[in-house]
Amino acid sequence: MAFKIIVCAKQVPDTNEIKIDPVKKTLIREGVPSILNHDDANALEEALKIKDAYPDTHITVVTMGPPQARDMLIECIAMGADEGILLSDRALGGSDTWATSNAIAAAIVKLKDYDLIFAGRQAIDGDTAQVGPQIAEKLGIPQVTYVAEFELEKDMKHITVKRALEDGYELIKIETPCMLTAIKELNTPRYMSIGGIFSAVRKEIPAWGAKELGVDVDKEVGLDASPTNVFRSFTPAPKGKGVILEADTDKELADKLLINLKAKHVI
Ligand SMILES: Cc1cc2nc3c(=O)[nH]c(=O)nc-3n(C[C@H](O)[C@H](O)[C@H](O)COP(=O)(O)OP(=O)(O)OC[C@H]3O[C@@H](n4cnc5c(N)ncnc54)[C@H](O)[C@@H]3O)c2cc1C
Repeated sequence: MAFKIIVCAKQVPDTNEIKIDPVKKTLIREGVPSILNHDDANALEEALKIKDAYPDTHITVVTMGPPQARDMLIECIAMGADEGILLSDRALGGSDTWATSNAIAAAIVKLKDYDLIFAGRQAIDGDTAQVGPQIAEKLGIPQVTYVAEFELEKDMKHITVKRALEDGYELIKIETPCMLTAIKELNTPRYMSIGGIFSAVRKEIPAWGAKELGVDVDKEVGLDASPTNVFRSFTPAPKGKGVILEADTDKELADKLLINLKAKHVI
């Protein structure tokens, strides 16, 4: 039986291009290009590597977002994914991570069969790293986060992963079906192929809303169902210009540094 992989991918604003409105102190989103979230590209690449080794592998990419997130799904199919599912509905708008994972978990339940769910560790805009683990909890499957190396055993039922920790790594053997979250050390994502682009643009991409997902729009998805409240968002005040101390000898330099630090009451 074909190995089935679901990749959770989010379309995010390219943070390299983001600027802050100096007056309103909010993000200037106009004209900012949207991209496939970096860690999600790593998740997709690892799924594609499995497909390279076992060609009957089936990869479905699921994203929740506005209608333009379809473009990102086309990109994923052009890279080699088999299909994309767009979760898009006004009723899903304003969802926090809890409501987002409710919608994605409902989509995965609707897709039924899967051996592996791959998400990115973190989205570069929301940055919470909560959605992958929340989906796993809601589906009741085991999970390993921060996956830096991946090896699928020949029985297609066990996976050995190297999980990155702050001060080292741990090796974990996990049974399928499971959820893994990818970090950039895992691989280098491939580019779209020309043939892939041609077939991707012709591909029909189903869009599912709350009704198709069977979720309760009052209790499970959307702004009102989201338990997170954002009280304030702000940009940190820019740091002042640095000072470079110069002196002829190390002792003189250390004395100067001491005087400066004492003057600022640091020591
Ligand atoms: C009150 C509130 C309202 C919000 N309203 C909106 C809104 O209207 N529109 C909006 O875009 N955001 C909204 N957000 C932000 C939104 O909750 C998060 O962006 C989203 O839940 C994902 O969380 P994250 O970005 O921290 O992802 P992380 O948890 O850091 O992502 C980890 C991984 O989960 C997967 N993943 C995350 N999000 C998605 C997705 N959407 N589709 C597929 N896979 C995904 C990816 O694999 C990703 O790498 C809102 C947040 C709050 C608190």
